[in-house]
Amino acid sequence: MNIDTATKLFEMALHLEKPWFISNISLNKEQKTLNIYLDFPRGSVFRCSKCGCEVKAYDTQEKTWRHLNFFQYECYLKARVPRLNCSVDGIHRADLPWARPGSSFTLLFEAFLFTISGEIPVQRVADLVVEDDEKIWRMLDHYVNKARETEDYSSVNKIGMDETSMKKNHNYITLAVDLEKKKTILNFRRKSLASSL
Ligand SMILES: [Zn+2]
Repeated sequence: MNIDTATKLFEMALHLEKPWFISNISLNKEQKTLNIYLDFPRGSVFRCSKCGCEVKAYDTQEKTWRHLNFFQYECYLKARVPRLNCSVDGIHRADLPWARPGSSFTLLFEAFLFTISGEIPVQRVADLVVEDDEKIWRMLDHYVNKARETEDYSSVNKIGMDETSMKKNHNYITLAVDLEKKKTILNFRRKSLASSL
């Protein structure tokens, strides 16, 4: 299989859309990493996420995202992320098809972490994928809060509050529970009691 065929395969697997393309793939046997470099042709236009109009890149910023492992290799996507200067909405980062803003994980890697976090403790997930557990907690918080935003609490009558601690890392979790439906409606977490005082 030649390099062009491999690149096409990876572009299909990543669901890359124009103007994005894979400019290079490098496998580091010592570090056991696979780096996939993404780029876009000069003069490309991107859709403004706010008004939908097409805008050229104003400047770019190098970024790296952790992606699903490629067999025993840790896989990273690397790209220069364009900032757009929209005449209506001002300067802001272009939306990327593979990651949400502010995350250093790809959407597929987040989906993987999210799934296994439902089965095993977050600290074990962190150990398994060799990542900081705080980063995984932040990602989980984001999706939990997003899911909560879409729920309707107008029928909640009785609320129970409880606080539990995860001793190893001194993470404290506060839970608010709908006592009638036996359902968690709010949780929030902080690194230690002292830092919240
Ligand atoms: Zn705009």
